[in-house]
This record gives sequence, structure tokens and C-alpha cells, in this order.
Amino acid sequence: MSDMRNSFTTYRQFAANLASSDCRGCALSESRSRIVVDRGTPGSDVLLVGEAPGRTEDEEGRAFVGRSGKLLDRLFLEEGFDTNRQSLVINVVKCRPPQNRPPRPEEARACMDIFREQFSLAGPRWVVLLGRTALKHLFPERAKLPMNEIAGSFFDHTGYPGIRFIVFFHPAYLLRDPRKIPAAREHIRSLLEERRNASQTNSGQ
Ligand code: URA
Repeated sequence: MSDMRNSFTTYRQFAANLASSDCRGCALSESRSRIVVDRGTPGSDVLLVGEAPGRTEDEEGRAFVGRSGKLLDRLFLEEGFDTNRQSLVINVVKCRPPQNRPPRPEEARACMDIFREQFSLAGPRWVVLLGRTALKHLFPERAKLPMNEIAGSFFDHTGYPGIRFIVFFHPAYLLRDPRKIPAAREHIRSLLEERRNASQTNSGQ
């Protein structure tokens, strides 16, 4: 318990430091309004990882609060899961790329130490990678297959023992192609079902 409280406090400290850091690690710092650290609840077992903040996130300083984030929240809420209370939502890159273009490899590299520290302080059990860009920057070898094949399947990685990863369609893609929404619902259900099963197994031990 005290461990959890310590890591929670440490995460809060990390987040406050980053938000006020005026980081100049890459060129995105020149055009951003704010460093967008996260949204939701540190210490949650579920971590949702997007690519980079968009316009609304840059204005408000919170991750996934624009149209994509609202869709993401709605789809989770339909399955009884509140992303604000039950997960932590972050991005690979913390500053908005101009015109919402995908972050460049050098920008993701510049942010990687920050991402790794955040990830390890967050201490998730379940990690959802939202879209191909997040996947590509974290696990490039897995991003070569078509999204239709990757989305919805779980994987483990030796570098992250005890953590289950799953890839979802990015909600911006769902906004562009709502025919994928039923599949996205299924992916959310699989995640929540695995999570429920794991907690039942643990409580039965
Ligand atoms: N898209 C992302 O990947 N992240 C956000 O925070 C917003 C939109």
C-alpha cells in the first residue's frame, strides 16, 4: 500500500515537473502552447497511449480531450468503463505537431526518455496503444502488418514483464471511418474481459 502511495506521489511530482519544465528537447517546443502530460488517474492498471496532442489538447493541456478523446471516452463508457477514473491517458509525444501531422521519428526519440519514465512511474498492467503511430514509435517491428490484422490482439514484450499490450484503432480513424466502430467496441470488450478475468484469478488465489 505504501509502495502504491509512493509511486502515486512520485508520478504526481513527475507530472508537475514536466508540465512546468519548458522542455526544449525538440522543434515542437517552438510551436506548442503547452506540454500535455496526461489525463485521468495515476495508479490505474490501464494506460491508454496515443501519439501526440492535437489542437484542443494543446489549448487545454490535457490528453485526448478533443473530438477523438470524446469518442474514445464514449465507447469505453458504453462498456461501463470511465477513462478518467479508471485509466491514465498519455501520448508518446508531449507537444502538438503543427497541423496535427504525425510526430517525426526524431521528435518521438527526443521524447522517449520522458515517455519511459512516465510509463514506469505509471506502472500499468494493461496498455492500449491507440493507432499505428503509437505502435510504430514503441514497437516498430510490430507496426509492419496492416492495422486490420493487428488491432484487437494482445501481445507481451520481454522488455515489459507482466504487462499486456493491445492495439486499438486510433479514435481519429474511427471518426473518419465509423464503419470500424463495431470492431473498436469488440476490442474494448476484449480488454475489459481479460482484465476482469485476471482480477478474478488473482482474487481467487
Ligand atoms: N490524438 C492523440 O493521439 N492524442 C491526443 O491527445 C489527441 C489526439
